[in-house]
Amino acid sequence: MENKLQVYNTISKKKEIFEPLKPPFVGMYVCGPTVYGDGHLGHARPAITFDLVYRYIQHLGYKVRYVRNITDVGHLENDADEGEDKIAKKARLEQLEPMEVAQYYIDRYHINMDQLNVKRPSIEPMASGHIIEQIEMIKKILAKGFAYEINGSVYFDVKKYNDKFAYGKLSGRVLEDLLSNTRVLEGQDEKHNSYDFALWKKAQPEHIMRWPSPWSDGFPGWHAECSAMSAKYLGEHFDIHGGGMDLLFPHHESEIAQSQVANNCEPCKYWMHNNMITINGQKMGKSLGNFITLNDFFTGNHPSLEKAYSPMCIRFFILQAHYRSTLDFSNEALLAAEKGLKRLMQGIETLQKLKPSATSSCDISKLSDNCYEAMDDDFNSPIVIANLFEGLKIINSINDGKESISEKDLESLKNLYNTFVFEILGLTNETDNNQFDVMDGLMQMVLSFRQQAKINKDYSASDKIRDELLKLGIVVKDGKEGSVWTLE
Ligand SMILES: [Zn+2]
Repeated sequence: MENKLQVYNTISKKKEIFEPLKPPFVGMYVCGPTVYGDGHLGHARPAITFDLVYRYIQHLGYKVRYVRNITDVGHLENDADEGEDKIAKKARLEQLEPMEVAQYYIDRYHINMDQLNVKRPSIEPMASGHIIEQIEMIKKILAKGFAYEINGSVYFDVKKYNDKFAYGKLSGRVLEDLLSNTRVLEGQDEKHNSYDFALWKKAQPEHIMRWPSPWSDGFPGWHAECSAMSAKYLGEHFDIHGGGMDLLFPHHESEIAQSQVANNCEPCKYWMHNNMITINGQKMGKSLGNFITLNDFFTGNHPSLEKAYSPMCIRFFILQAHYRSTLDFSNEALLAAEKGLKRLMQGIETLQKLKPSATSSCDISKLSDNCYEAMDDDFNSPIVIANLFEGLKIINSINDGKESISEKDLESLKNLYNTFVFEILGLTNETDNNQFDVMDGLMQMVLSFRQQAKINKDYSASDKIRDELLKLGIVVKDGKEGSVWTLE
């Protein structure tokens, strides 16, 4: 496999040629959602970014095992190991089992991801299902002397680690800065240093999520799950670890430290991070009143939204920016994305109708090379999209008779748009789906009239409806569960 793909590695801070450890296999781990609320843009961006990576690496011929976890335990309200577990808190407020909360939001997350045409990962492990693996890893870290137990909790000894390895090599933070920047929070006095992080926390009596361990009945620290689960499913050293830039510190930094001690190696070869999203130039937050869920976008049901924006409009908008750039959402920008996407899909419809000529006056291979070059340059989707729009000019010129295209070139051009628009960028033509929805709605209405005629024993009317539909190419089949329709 000739390899031109370059990936920006957060740890080396430069683009590197992508050379998997064991080709043709690629292992990729991405930090997934903490499931205590509905999906929002902050969930959509990493999901779409790594969906693009997953799709393109597969397109290049690699066999990818993509692991994206679900955090259902251990993520406390603040990153300094204090506060209530986010899911347990929601469960307490709504009087539900924590697992009911997790399951409810996992299901809703999956629906949103399907709407955005994000492919499901190969494995989606849950933190609560891997307590044993996390305990085993913590035992190893304790045995090597890089953690200490106190009052039934276990903390990672960051200072000791930093003396031997460099803590902060991913995020560029140095220990001295951490010390001066961390506030001493209530209950933190049992740690040797405020920057130490929890591997295991003893559960307070009121805490519902708890498991037995050699140290106490308690629960794992947030960073433990990703180290334990990535090693379990991808090996101790794998190819790509991804996530949002907000996870660089302390989450990913702590993962490196845990793996380095437990497995004598860093977890992965390439670290990839997508940048953050702002709304009208502001950080998104519940307290700022600009917190918009994906369902709000799809229905337009939020005071900041002028209208509803379809899942593909959101996906296209996210892909129009490089994943390492910041991205600002506004109604104007979304309206522009909606228009652009419509133009692209209309161009593809025109492409299907083009008639070939004996010779070509346009250069299709150049367009294809440009698209691959852009993807190989650290998954530069905005440049791919710009090239696809350049291609639309060629399509329109051929359609207007100003340019000509041979049968072979026309085939390549159709392949190019299929590959890049649908397979790699993962866009779908929503107008097709809308038309189906309208037709299905109409058919359900017609079938209910027919059902009423049957109930009224008006069999001539019900037969007439069936026969007239058949003339239109619509076959109605009656069964125990009612009637269904198919196109002939
Ligand atoms: Zn993680």
